[in-house]
Amino acid sequence: MTSGGDAPGMNACVRAVVRAAIYRGCKAFAVMEGYEGLVRGGPEYIKEMNWLDVRGYLSEGGTNIGTARCMDFKQRQGRLKGCKHLIDAGIDALIVCGGDGSLTGADLFRKEWPSLIQELKDTGVISNEKYEKHKHLNICGTVGSIDNDMATTDATIGAYSSLDRICQAIDYIDATANSHSRAFVVEVMGRHCGWLALMAGIATSADYILIPEKPSSSKGWQDQMCQIVSQHRSKGKRKTIVIVAEGAITNELEPISSDAVKDVLVDRLGLDTRVTTLGHVQRGGTAVSYDRILATVQGVEAVKAVLDSTPDTPSPLIGIEENKIVRKSLVEAVEITKSVATAIENKDFDKAMSLRDSEFTE
Ligand code: ADP
Repeated sequence: MTSGGDAPGMNACVRAVVRAAIYRGCKAFAVMEGYEGLVRGGPEYIKEMNWLDVRGYLSEGGTNIGTARCMDFKQRQGRLKGCKHLIDAGIDALIVCGGDGSLTGADLFRKEWPSLIQELKDTGVISNEKYEKHKHLNICGTVGSIDNDMATTDATIGAYSSLDRICQAIDYIDATANSHSRAFVVEVMGRHCGWLALMAGIATSADYILIPEKPSSSKGWQDQMCQIVSQHRSKGKRKTIVIVAEGAITNELEPISSDAVKDVLVDRLGLDTRVTTLGHVQRGGTAVSYDRILATVQGVEAVKAVLDSTPDTPSPLIGIEENKIVRKSLVEAVEITKSVATAIENKDFDKAMSLRDSEFTE
């Protein structure tokens, strides 16, 4: 299943899971449209996949098996339907490629599974035989997200493709900015995570970058940005690029909008300034080679992980750490990721930074 926001490389992950499963003698199914497909069930939404069904998936962007946001799955009743539909299809392991929301849902589903299946048996919806056969559900997560915001993994599937798209767009903007001696404020995605903005800033030599992880006062960032941009201009630089992460905030947790950044450049420095919000082009297009490879090796590992699982093994999350594919605790990864968001909401930035297991905190 692919779930949550789409990310380039999800298709490569589906292909790897389907083929690795078949190679290991399993039947593979695709749950269409994320948790929505699980709740709806039936052969239209839970489809058996053969080797050739995923031909061509490696290089295709987005997710061919669909993704959706499903409110019903957040309710027990929705998960009960999902439980029945998986049992109907004879499925005993679920590999989810999605972001922290999707993986939280997956973990909850596994934890609740014994009581869900018990209810189905007690109400006569499933037979004793099916109950015995499906007592345990193996879950495994791979992280598909352009934001690169999941704890305990260095990279998420899709992040490098998105970064590449942003860099290409900024290269295009550079040419016109230089011609007119303009400033551009480029807003990039990433939700509460500044990874895309920071990496794009380094890769395109942006003049200034605003990210949620390094908040300062309103006056603080404005003064610093103006000082740096003025310095660059005084050395003959004709273009100015400021990258703003969509989650950029002040240390008072006030959002910093790209329009506010533009106003400062216009009012204080008199620069002819335009705002470019890159939007969904950042998610689109084909996956870069890194994401294809990451998704493939992680998909293969996910199949191995569910086959190794026992009822006592914690649900694994397949990550990458120092260039090695690793199995982490899905619960822990989701918990750390959520704790970072909570720490930021509580203005405890030191705690948020110490929780982020990223090397990009300074
Ligand atoms: P992402 O996976 O990209 O973070 P969302 O947060 O929108 O995206 O989650 C995708 C889907 O995962 C939701 O529409 C919902 O069906 C499921 N989900 C998210 N959080 C939970 C939760 N706490 N409990 C159950 N299901 C959840």
